[in-house]
Amino acid sequence: MKIVNGYDLMNYAKEYHYLLPAFNTTNMEMTYAIAKGLNEARLPGYIQISSNNLRLSSPEAIVALTRDALKDVDTPIALHLDHGKTYEDVKACVDAGFTSIMIDMSHLPFEENVKEVRKAVDYCHFYGIPVEAELGALMGKEDDHVSEADCHTDPAMVKDFVERTGCDLLAVSVGNVHGLDIQPKVDLDLLKEIADVSPVPLVMHGGSGIPFDTIRKGRDAGLLKVNYGSDLRKEFVKTFGQAYEKNPACCSVIELSLDAVDNVAAKAKELVEIINS
Ligand SMILES: [Zn+2]
Repeated sequence: MKIVNGYDLMNYAKEYHYLLPAFNTTNMEMTYAIAKGLNEARLPGYIQISSNNLRLSSPEAIVALTRDALKDVDTPIALHLDHGKTYEDVKACVDAGFTSIMIDMSHLPFEENVKEVRKAVDYCHFYGIPVEAELGALMGKEDDHVSEADCHTDPAMVKDFVERTGCDLLAVSVGNVHGLDIQPKVDLDLLKEIADVSPVPLVMHGGSGIPFDTIRKGRDAGLLKVNYGSDLRKEFVKTFGQAYEKNPACCSVIELSLDAVDNVAAKAKELVEIINS
């Protein structure tokens, strides 16, 4: 299949009541593994890469890898920029062929957040690509994404934010955290309150630490997308780490990389199946 447009993926998920996982990639192996896992589960989702990871895999490289990974896949998958840091990153990814974008200006004061998101939205919408924005900041660290702040999304600001930015998906801060160092405490009532006033579907970052029961309840409350980064990265790193510990003389990069693809794919399959069960 071709990389699916983000709007088409969102509509497909709404029509068939799917909760879309967005799995973070970094390199070729992770990209192939995510496509493989979703395809084996026969369920839709996103391959996503954060601005920080573009240091290794350029937007053009990741688009080429994703196209190749999707050659024999027949479940809908979109390619998403996760935590787009700058307008330049957004533009580079859209120009390279990404089909969905996040711009994260949640660290800025409200008015500046609105202004920066609006600029990215105008560019993306011109090319028919949806935009995820974030209101409220998440605590924790994932990759380079470090935040001490724990600012829950204020439901009273949601409608104004969505309407003025024109964003198509809203990432919320409801006690979810980035990374696995801090225990998340998801406030489902707050999530429901936000869903009730939000004109667009909601996104939960930091899926890896959250109990599946909470995720499923979130799905019923209005979640459309859940991000999984740490769970897959752990599988990838573990494959190499365990092999090295077992035998430091082992240096078959090809065998270990193929194992890593299988292990990450199995984890992606497991996650997408559980959250849609
Ligand atoms: Zn995130």
